[in-house]
Order: sequence, then structure tokens, then C-alpha cells
Amino acid sequence: MTDCLFCNIVAGNIPCDTVYEDSEVLAFRDINPKADTHILVIPKQHIVNLADVSEQQWPLVGRVLQSINKVAQQESLEGFRVITNNGEKGGQEVFHMHWHVLAGKNLPGF
Ligand code: 5GP
Ligand code: ZN
Repeated sequence: MTDCLFCNIVAGNIPCDTVYEDSEVLAFRDINPKADTHILVIPKQHIVNLADVSEQQWPLVGRVLQSINKVAQQESLEGFRVITNNGEKGGQEVFHMHWHVLAGKNLPGF
């Protein structure tokens, strides 16, 4: 989607600090980190959020979660928190599904 911020990051039109990438998933550092480590993990394919996942896309969601585990190992995270905001009323501001991976001493409360 041309008007989607994260699709533009996937396309390379907007730079990002890449942490992990494969054919289906991209992980990059959040521009406004809310913890010592704050990484966003997204499917390269445009999916709005969990409510928008079609039957055939659920395996891709699993691969995003698997990638979160790879990122945690790569970054040597001893513990981490995963959050995905769904919909405006769920605190979602960028409408391309993304999983926040938060770690470090000062994890925000929720
Ligand atoms: P949401 O509130 O939708 O769950 O989270 C969106 C996240 O995207 C926020 O944590 C925000 O800091 C991050 N973000 C917004 N614009 C950019 C950007 O251009 N680059 C990166 N790396 N992160 C962004
Ligand atoms: Zn998108």
C-alpha cells in the first residue's frame, strides 16, 4: 500500500535501522523507543492487525512470532515483552500489523 508508512519502510522508500530480515518478515528499531530495547517486527505483506488476518495468512503470523524469537536470541535479550496494538481503540497508530519487542531495565507498565 503506497500510503502505508511500514509498507514504505519494507519497500526501502523510508530508511530504518534493520535488526532482522527474511523474505516475509522485517524487524527494525522503533524511532521513538519506549524501553532500552524497542524493536518492531512486521510481516512484509500489508495486514492491518490481528482482526484483518485471513485464514491463509495465519501461518505468516506464526512466522512473525518465530522471528521475534530469533530477534531476541540475536540481540541476547534475557527477557522481553511483546505487545501488538489492535485498532484505534487498542492504541494502534500505524495500521500495518507490528509487534513491539521491549526489553531492558525500564520496561513501561501497562
Ligand atoms: P502503535 O502505536 O501503532 O502500536 O506503534 C507504532 C510505532 O511505530 C510507535 O512506537 C512509533 O514510535 C513507531 N514509528 C512511527 N513512525 C516510525 C518510523 O518512521 N520509523 C520507525 N522506525 N518507527 C516508527
Ligand atoms: Zn502496510
